[in-house]
Amino acid sequence: MIGALTGDYIGSIYEFCNTQDPYFPLVESGKSITDDSICTIAIANAILENIPYEDALKVVCLRHPFPMGGYGSGFGHWLWSDRPYQYNSCGNGSAMRVSAIGWAFEKEDVMLREAERSAMCTHNHKEGIKGAQATAHAVWFFRHYKSDLEGFRRLMTQYYPEWEMYYKPFREYNAYCQNTLPLCIQEVVYGTSYEDTIRNTILCGGDSDTNGAIAGAIAGARWGVPLDLWHSAYSTIDDDLKSIVDKFITKFNVTG
Ligand SMILES: [Mg+2]
Repeated sequence: MIGALTGDYIGSIYEFCNTQDPYFPLVESGKSITDDSICTIAIANAILENIPYEDALKVVCLRHPFPMGGYGSGFGHWLWSDRPYQYNSCGNGSAMRVSAIGWAFEKEDVMLREAERSAMCTHNHKEGIKGAQATAHAVWFFRHYKSDLEGFRRLMTQYYPEWEMYYKPFREYNAYCQNTLPLCIQEVVYGTSYEDTIRNTILCGGDSDTNGAIAGAIAGARWGVPLDLWHSAYSTIDDDLKSIVDKFITKFNVTG
């Protein structure tokens, strides 16, 4: 979860202006957490307060209506609708917001069911649900089996058999779980550290902050997040959201 917020921060300024500079600065003025972090914190709040994911997303996101880069159009319509509706999305939104579930739930089957529930209110397309479960499962896996890279590869192959062959940099703006997850998995498997994984993911282009949040969630669980990067991201979170983050990290002993 710390890795998701930090990855979102690192990718934030490249969402609409991708970088191809392999030495781009990870920390820079003008960077900030975005909608990906706010949604992630909303899911964390649902767990802390034991309220439905849908309600927490509404309450927390509406308290922060104008994040850097805005909300995705489908989610924005859902958020401001008087009568929220499932909109059958397979966009990245279900995967980018789910990491807290991988930290909060111990039992594998419960964690997977919660990941599905967190997706259902908006991303009820089967690929949207799969993206949420694969991401939460990846976080959960590294929490328990940090050094078992082979096990992680096998687990991810169950979700995306093509991930190892897949190489499709996001030269076009691409924000679907079924395209994003295989690439993020690849970057985590072949990465050498949290920083290396985030840098390589963002260099693929596309929806940089969201890709950073998803790869960052998994990489954070694998390696942890360097404190200077986390502190930079944390400094852009307002007090309302910080209080949720602090409570969640303490309660669930989040280390990455
Ligand atoms: Mg964003």
